[in-house]
Amino acid sequence: MSKPSDLPPAGHLGTEIAALAASGERKSFKAGAVIFAAGAPGDGFYVVQSGAVRLTAVVGDNQPRVLATVGPGDFFGEMAVLDDAPRSANAEAEKDTVTLFLGRDALLRLLDARPRLALDLIREFSRRMRALNQKYVDEILQAERLAVVGRFAGTIVHDFKNPLAVIGLAAELAGMADSTTPQRAKAEQTISRQIKRITAMLQELIEFTRPSGQKKLLHSVNFAEFMTPLADEIATEIAPRQVKLLLPAAPPALSVKIDAQRLSRLFYNLVNNAVDAMAGAGGKITLRFVAESAHLRIEVEDNGKGIAPEIAQKLFEPFATHGKANGTGLGLSICRKIAEDHGGRIWAEGKRGRGALFCFTLPLGG
Ligand code: ADP
Repeated sequence: MSKPSDLPPAGHLGTEIAALAASGERKSFKAGAVIFAAGAPGDGFYVVQSGAVRLTAVVGDNQPRVLATVGPGDFFGEMAVLDDAPRSANAEAEKDTVTLFLGRDALLRLLDARPRLALDLIREFSRRMRALNQKYVDEILQAERLAVVGRFAGTIVHDFKNPLAVIGLAAELAGMADSTTPQRAKAEQTISRQIKRITAMLQELIEFTRPSGQKKLLHSVNFAEFMTPLADEIATEIAPRQVKLLLPAAPPALSVKIDAQRLSRLFYNLVNNAVDAMAGAGGKITLRFVAESAHLRIEVEDNGKGIAPEIAQKLFEPFATHGKANGTGLGLSICRKIAEDHGGRIWAEGKRGRGALFCFTLPLGG
């Protein structure tokens, strides 16, 4: 947020107004004194001779915000005079201050008689409004950026909890005095697999913040060779959460062009969401592969609580989340980005009965 000293002066008088204001009544205020409060009638306007005046208003969060600080030669309090409405801000002497006060009627008479004065005032208003608009646009942009950073931090914590817990457990097992060589080897494998996963997640997050449309690196692979070990890995990971992974048919041995790490991420995101939607034991996730003319359709179906109507229309939008304490709403938007970067698309289908069904396509060949 800007410091008060960065704020534009409230208004600097054109020479005409300055000369005329000199005929105003001299009013002195001790440091801290209230010159007028919001809501008071707009009985006149002030020109600062010496000292400083702070103009504040209570905005949104109930905190008084400094709109401007006014020094010698500046004027304030003209708005309520011109639009005949109560004061919209508070004015307070920042230090011992001397002002010249011009009553409402006197000011209006002067404006009538001297159009040049009105022009001076209008110019000053537009300059002031522009400066104030810019200040608030800057503040809003900054607040939005901070909110996004906060959400990313939330995502990292949320998504990293699982692999970190697995690493912790494996390290503990490997470090036990009576652990055997095969047990240590298994722990080492687990740790390195989870570290790879964390690295992939970090890359994905970095990618999410990167502008899209960049060239992606895809490699031709046999889909079965990619999918079979991944399905095993996923099944192992979700087993402790009492959820089973079912593959009614083996993954087809078809050629597809993929970025293996990113496509794994897509599967993990869909599966983790499905697990989140399961109340407890008895959860089932079914993976199906349907070869169509030009693409392979992959279905991820669960028997969880189903997609809430509140979120159905914006599932794939970033930050759309519903019914989760730690949801960030990034998971499905990342899925969409990955599917589209592979030349495919992703959607959710209504399902009779309970549960959710997510489908995405991958172009065949390559
Ligand atoms: P997050 O999981 O962080 O909320 P996502 O983008 O991954 O973000 O998901 C958005 C929302 O979609 C979730 O909050 C949830 O309400 C809904 N959703 C996603 N997958 C499922 C599912 N398998 N079953 C029910 N609801 C789901």
